[in-house]
Amino acid sequence: MARRYKGHMNGERYLANIDSDHREVHDLDNEKTGSNQCQIDEVIAAGNDRPYNSLEAAKREGFDNCHWCIGDSTR
Ligand SMILES: [Zn+2]
Repeated sequence: MARRYKGHMNGERYLANIDSDHREVHDLDNEKTGSNQCQIDEVIAAGNDRPYNSLEAAKREGFDNCHWCIGDSTR
């Protein structure tokens, strides 16, 4: 898959899911598209996507790593 230019995304590498049940950040350059993996398009469709250009910035705002595309999830 690839970076997105829809929803709130404009080609940024990282997408954070701001849904309060998820609060995790994805690396679109390493997206995993299996069922129940990243589900990026579902996040965008729900309006829960927030773009980041760096993983560090997303982490500073409290997002956890996605287990599939980044790893080292702390949950
Ligand atoms: Zn992911």
